[in-house]
Parts: sequence; C-alpha cells; structure tokens
Amino acid sequence: MNYLNDLAAYLEGLKSEGRYRTLKVWESGSDTWMVLNGRKILQMSSNNYLGLTNHPKLKQAAIEAIDKYGVGSGSVRTITGTLDIHEELEIELAKFKGTEAALVFQSGFTTNQGALSAVLGPDDAVISDELNHASIIDGIRLTKATRKIYAHKDMDQLEAVLKETQHHRKRVVVTDGVFSMDGDIAPLPDIVQLAEAYDAIVYVDDAHASGVLGKNGKGSTDHFGLHGRVHIQIGTLSKAIGCVGGYVAGAQLLKEHLIHSARPFLFSTSQTPAVAATCLAAIQVLRDSSDLVTRLWDNTGGFRADLQRLGFDTGASETPIIPIIIGDPATTMRFSDRLLEEGVFAQGIVYPTVAMDKGRVRLIVTAQHTKEDLAFALNSLQKVGREFGLIS
Ligand code: PMP
Repeated sequence: MNYLNDLAAYLEGLKSEGRYRTLKVWESGSDTWMVLNGRKILQMSSNNYLGLTNHPKLKQAAIEAIDKYGVGSGSVRTITGTLDIHEELEIELAKFKGTEAALVFQSGFTTNQGALSAVLGPDDAVISDELNHASIIDGIRLTKATRKIYAHKDMDQLEAVLKETQHHRKRVVVTDGVFSMDGDIAPLPDIVQLAEAYDAIVYVDDAHASGVLGKNGKGSTDHFGLHGRVHIQIGTLSKAIGCVGGYVAGAQLLKEHLIHSARPFLFSTSQTPAVAATCLAAIQVLRDSSDLVTRLWDNTGGFRADLQRLGFDTGASETPIIPIIIGDPATTMRFSDRLLEEGVFAQGIVYPTVAMDKGRVRLIVTAQHTKEDLAFALNSLQKVGREFGLIS
C-alpha cells in the first residue's frame, strides 16, 4: 500500500473545501509591520500583545544569558537543566500571579498536557468548557478521568454536571480565561462560586489573559479579584510575554507534585538560558509599569468600536482578540487573502477550529499599533468588507 496516496487524497479534500494552507514565510521579526515576499504588511494576527518581542531589555537579557550560560541547558530540569535563572523566573512568576509557587514548562501546550495529566486520576471528573483550547482537550485525553463538557459559559449546565459528578474523588473545572477564537472572557466569579459550593477545583488557562487582563496584566484571577480562590493558573510565555514557554502557578505542593509527575517537565529538555532570561526580564517589565497594558486596552476599545460602527459582526469579543465573523471556510480564506493584497494580514480561521458556518478572520490588536496603523487596517477592512457584501 502506498500510504502517500491516502495523504494526497486527504489534502485534495482540504483543497476542495478551501481549507488547504500554505505556510506564510515572513522575512522580518514579529512586529506591527512585517515583510512578506519583499512587501511590508500590517500585522493584525500576532499574539505579541505588548510588543515585547523587540523590547531592548528583553533582547539584552537574552544576549547576556547566552554569554554567561551558552545556548542550551543540557538536559531536562531534573538533571542539569535547572539553572538559577529558571528558578528566579519561577519566583517572579509566582509573585506576579499571587501564588505560593510556579513551575515553568517549554510551551503553553505542554504545560496543559503535563498539568492536566498529572492532576487528574481515574477516579476524578474533569469538567471543561466546550470552547477550551486544543491543548486542554489533548491534556484531558491523556487522562483516565471521567470527561464532561459544558456548553460555552453555560453556568446552569456547569452546575448540573457538578451535581452529577459529586461521587468522584475530585472534580476539576477547566476553562480558558480568555477564549482564543472569540476573545470573550470566562465568567470566572460564577465558576469559582459554583466550584466552592460543590467543592471542586478551578483550573484556568490564561494564555490570552496574561499580560492582558488584570493589574499590570496579571491575568483573569486578578481582573476579577479572585486571588486565593483559583487553584491552578496556567500561563504562556509565548504571547504577551513575547518569547516562548508556559507555566503553572499555584500551591507549593502542586509544584512539587508536578516536578515528580508532569511528563513534559520530566522528559523534555528545559527552556534555553536565553529564553528563561528573556521571560524573566519580561515579567520584570510588566511588574514595573502598566503603560503597555493601558495602551493595549486604549487601542482595543477604539478599534472594536470602529469595526462595529462600520457594521462588522465582531462576535462576542471583549478583549484585543477581535474576530470578524464571515461564514463558510472558502469565503473566509478568500477574505483573508484579499485583505493581504491590500497590505493587512488577518488570519482566516475555519472549520474544524471553529464551526463550519462560523469562519472568521481573527484580528489581534496590540499596544504597539499606532493610530495610523489601525486607521489603515480599518480602511482596508472597509474596502474588502464592501466587496464581500459583509457591510454596506
Ligand atoms: N492555551 C491557550 C488558550 C492558547 O491559546 C494557546 C496558544 N495557541 C496555548 C494554550 C498554547 O500555548 P503555546 O503557544 O505557548 O504552546
């Protein structure tokens, strides 16, 4: 059997549905304007919320770390791979998140895989929002816990599931803090209240909330004033923090448990010195000033209001993630391509990442966008939106 024939047939299927993708190869670093095929394009799809990828203090920290420690850490954390900068980063992250401890992983994705599979046993139940990120879904798949999914942000369903799972050893309610495809915020106060009423654990993935929500970008727990009431906070170091990596913030005992049982932590080489030092510098930048977070929200509020005034459907967005809902996959991808011709990149997101009729281009506003950048994006969106009959 030629297995490549099967792969070719699968890819042809994607092409016929307008879902086939070629990778865009950018010729400059992550910034508001990036070079693609020799042309400057306004970037409206990067997770670099605060523009930290190019912050001078972060770059300097990376250079100094390479000089001092070299480029690799040499092994997993439990052998030679824990450097003093890894430990310092964890201390700063715990302070930033208001928890006893934090533990760093190589990515947000592996953080969810490691934490969920370590925390959930066969006698437990995990209760998850239907729109939670793929890394949560995969993390749950690695466990033998009973799985329950509740409709997006539906607190009645969550309560019903909490009632029905009371005989399980422990119940863990898992939610994104900010949902990555719609940019809406989880109703964390309600989730915490229900979890307390039914003695369940709350697990929040703040990948898109860290550096964005809360004082100085401390995340959704801080945003809602729920310190001490959210048991497990997940963050990524690859979005607002501007580098790469992930972490769990919570109790010291949780950290010690994960050190002994989270498989990506145990069996995959630790963050490089430059990465650890960069992330540490980023947390210090956030800790010392709220200016970037304030700019991010100023840009977000104005831009979303402008889009809505033009008549675009921005879905449930409450954060810098602003989708423009378009519909079927082929039209969505054509819209994104057409926008690129105008000099603006907004990623088309289609089935199976979102429902078949809920294809969208996902815009992400950052603190670094100037008023002129956002006006340029708006003009281009208006032009293409009219061509597609999305707005009048
Ligand atoms: N959780 C959520 C909610 C995310 O959106 C992402 C990023 N795609 C991740 C986890 C994974 O983070 P990372 O990119 O750092 O692996």
